[in-house]
Amino acid sequence: MYTVPKLTDYSAAALDKAVAELLGALEAEIKALTADSDLRSFRDRWLARKNGVLAQVNELWLKPAPQDAKKLVGARVNQLKEVVQPQVERLSLYDLVDSRKPGLDRLREEDWKQRRQSVLELRWAAERLDITLPGVRRPLGAQHPVIRTMNEIVAVFRNLGYSVSEGPEIESDYYNFESLNFPPHHPARDMQDTLFIGGQESKALRERLLLRTHTSPVQIRTMEKMKPPLRIVIPGKVHRNDAPDATHSPIFHQVEGLAVDTNITFCDLKGTLEHAMKALFGSDVKTRFYPSFFPFTEPSADVQISCIFCGGKGQRDGGPCRNCKASGWIELLGCGMVDPAIFGFVREKQPAYDPEKISGFAFGMGLDRIAMMKYGVSDIGQFYSGDMRFLEQFT
Ligand SMILES: [Zn+2]
Repeated sequence: MYTVPKLTDYSAAALDKAVAELLGALEAEIKALTADSDLRSFRDRWLARKNGVLAQVNELWLKPAPQDAKKLVGARVNQLKEVVQPQVERLSLYDLVDSRKPGLDRLREEDWKQRRQSVLELRWAAERLDITLPGVRRPLGAQHPVIRTMNEIVAVFRNLGYSVSEGPEIESDYYNFESLNFPPHHPARDMQDTLFIGGQESKALRERLLLRTHTSPVQIRTMEKMKPPLRIVIPGKVHRNDAPDATHSPIFHQVEGLAVDTNITFCDLKGTLEHAMKALFGSDVKTRFYPSFFPFTEPSADVQISCIFCGGKGQRDGGPCRNCKASGWIELLGCGMVDPAIFGFVREKQPAYDPEKISGFAFGMGLDRIAMMKYGVSDIGQFYSGDMRFLEQFT
């Protein structure tokens, strides 16, 4: 009968040999079991807390192991436990359920196959390299539809000489609202619309922190750092206190643009956006501008493009077009000439922004809506669910 030997050599090779011997002994004992064997004492012999084989392994191998071999011995002992314990336990259980005894031989046969598999696996692990094992197949990644749309839009403006600017997602009230000409009681500043960081009541309003509600603060931050002329696009994540539904999400993405130079006019704005819309949606797409209002631009305009689904006809497949609600137009972005008051705020740090000498235009669009339109997605929440079945469609 097997007895656990004392170890004198703690090298990996010696450990592997000792482990193999122990497993060989277990293998022989299991083979020798019959339906009449006392499985309770078989169990105790291997697993008893006092003097079971595994307990002895602990006493004789792990405890006296020198400090530098402890890690290796510990790993081997744990591997052994993981193989021996469940196998012995499963076998010995059959003894407790007497009615199953007639089937014992068959069950033991199945157990044995599994156990032998485990022993093999342990040996493989010890040998560390098995060139017959299949490699790990890494699935190919792909760009998220929102990121892909973002990159496409940014690329259009990069080709026009724009560079990319980024800024923090946690902003101060000053950069998110005040410097963008939002009056103190503007509804956007309400807790209902904006996610504020808690516990800031003692701070001055302009210093209070919030999750930025648009990428516009980056316009101010960039102008404070760089003198005109300036041409930047700002892609990024923004947050609003919106309950999620098919078209709203508390988190979404924008791309904004800003051009500042001497003699920038509304014509430049129109020409730039018309070119960008054609580059993004095809050369036969039409744009139209009509008056709107934003605190940070004057004059301001909303931009619509002719519906890319029905070609601007408003009718598709013999019925009204759902995408443009039969109007033939889709609203896509907001824009305008930078309000001189904005340059007034920037001048405090960067005097070159003198509204008497320079002018500029700005525009912004919601990325997620454009991505939804481009890829026919009906619920914005799907972009953020992390559901592989949805995302795999875009690989
Ligand atoms: Zn349409």
